[in-house]
Amino acid sequence: MKFLGAHIFHNQQAKSVLKWLKEDLRDRLRRVDELLVRDEYKINIYRRYLLPSLRFALTVHDLHRSHLRQLDQLTARYLKKWAHMPRGASLAMFHDPKLLNIKSVSHLYQETRTLAYAKQAWNPDRTVEAAIESKRAREGTWTRKSSTINEAHERLTAAIEATPAPVTEKAVVATVRRSLNEEIASQWRDKLEQYVMQGQMPLLFHSQEADSTWLSTIFNMPRGLVQFALNASLNTLPSADNLRRWGKRISARCLACRNGETLFHVLNGCTVYLQQGRYTWRHNSVLLYIYNTLSELLQQRDGYSEVLVDLPGYQQGNTIPADVIPTNQIPDLVVLDRENRRITIFELTVPFETNLTQSEVRKVNKYAALVADVEATGFECQMIHLTVGSRGLVTTPNRTAIEKLMPDGTSKGTLTEIYRTLNKIALSASYSIFYARLQPTWRSPPLLNYKL
Ligand SMILES: [Zn+2]
Repeated sequence: MKFLGAHIFHNQQAKSVLKWLKEDLRDRLRRVDELLVRDEYKINIYRRYLLPSLRFALTVHDLHRSHLRQLDQLTARYLKKWAHMPRGASLAMFHDPKLLNIKSVSHLYQETRTLAYAKQAWNPDRTVEAAIESKRAREGTWTRKSSTINEAHERLTAAIEATPAPVTEKAVVATVRRSLNEEIASQWRDKLEQYVMQGQMPLLFHSQEADSTWLSTIFNMPRGLVQFALNASLNTLPSADNLRRWGKRISARCLACRNGETLFHVLNGCTVYLQQGRYTWRHNSVLLYIYNTLSELLQQRDGYSEVLVDLPGYQQGNTIPADVIPTNQIPDLVVLDRENRRITIFELTVPFETNLTQSEVRKVNKYAALVADVEATGFECQMIHLTVGSRGLVTTPNRTAIEKLMPDGTSKGTLTEIYRTLNKIALSASYSIFYARLQPTWRSPPLLNYKL
């Protein structure tokens, strides 16, 4: 690696390097852009092929922070274009390690340089070492420019300290990657906290609640849905309030009810939409999938549990049989095992992601008395409540709820498939609801029909 050391030492032409790198990068981005594939695939091509191909160039050339910013801006332009995001959208969706985790050029640069430096520290070569020492000393006097080598040195020192014994090269490399990821994630979190509009759902991914299924699924979605999912989670869709904010529309009123139209309003909050059955259609589409899946899995298992569901054409309006207990309450779904005298009462809600907890509390209170009454008849009764966010988020506690609902011994693979399909159905339905906002009337299409 003498070449590497010598190269770092002699190359003082950061500006010309930047010019060359920038042109090369622009060229590659253009070639991806011109591909005859769907835009969301271009994001994936960028992530899987283009970005890793920059690694070497970033390892051997010194760049200052302002240069890296220029490269970041260049890639951001294309990423936003492919994601159909407005110019003002936060880049957090792409670059935040807790979100899509597509490294920015500057993240990749910091990582490759620290790792190269670590490699050198473990396999020292005297000539290179001397060169590095003098470079560190020289750049240590810089006050206006960032010194890559000194930053790498500091990162490596911190990583060595943070690595539990035995301090091997491999363990330190892992620490470098992890701590850099954490550092960058926390920078994004700080930024997101300042974004009143765009930050709400991304911040859920920073909390312990959210898991990454949502993010890992979105690239396998039908056409148009990826861009919808990304913009819906950043709240950068063309809802009336956003259009007004962007100076593209004067009125921010909902065409159906004349109240203010926000993303929340369209997806969950409009009383006219509610009466028209738009939200019920989404709810029932999710419920139908749960019913189909549960029925099939139960059939494979015991074959004697009944699944009753409150859906048109099924046991609509009567999910708890009168001979078990007369009640006017109608849970969404009931699993009845007369043999073992066990009942599961299941309720589903599809609220806006920021209201997940409230809907949970409401449902538990609503059914507490019924659960007690059923138990008084000698049945063992459990209540399971599931919330699937209207933008498809299935949080960790809700994954647990699904696991509880499905028969014992359902495989991890099947459960993951279920989580993924749930977020796909919720997103697809919300996508239809969002684009129907310009039509005053609504006729519910057939329920989305996904099978396990
Ligand atoms: Zn409305």
